[in-house]
Amino acid sequence: MRKSIILFLLLLLLLFVIFPRTGVYAFLFDRGNYGYINESSTEMISDLDELSPKTRELAIKFLEKCEEKGLSVRITETYRTQARQEMLYKQGRTTSGSVVTWTKNSKHTKRRAFDICENNTDDPYGDLEFFRKCAEIGKEVGLTPGYYFERYQDMPHYELNRWWLR
Ligand SMILES: [Zn+2]
Repeated sequence: MRKSIILFLLLLLLLFVIFPRTGVYAFLFDRGNYGYINESSTEMISDLDELSPKTRELAIKFLEKCEEKGLSVRITETYRTQARQEMLYKQGRTTSGSVVTWTKNSKHTKRRAFDICENNTDDPYGDLEFFRKCAEIGKEVGLTPGYYFERYQDMPHYELNRWWLR
């Protein structure tokens, strides 16, 4: 009898305390509430609402902390349709221009990545110290900054790499 009470309490603990913290419920139920995007469009999208709920939450936290530190950040791109990703992939390979991406399988197409640049400046990608400071903040809030990518550093890029969070 006492054993079953303990088991029951453990179950409650698991369901109402442990699971909610792991984000497993969000993973199972939160499919996001995205606007209507034409999936064949190759336009750039910079709307935070097009990110997965957790990516969006961390992006907002990131922006707030950057602002506190006096870093003026602008989001340039969030969700990317597969059509746009493939168009970018062709760039510098089969179409003109320089290579801008190394993958057809981007976190942007999964709503789990966004790109930034410096706001209110003539050279939004020129200040390396700006990107270094932002990357520190990104890491702090739980994002994976492309700044730290070892093979292809991607300074403007941030992604959510915790698969159990939506
Ligand atoms: Zn990116």
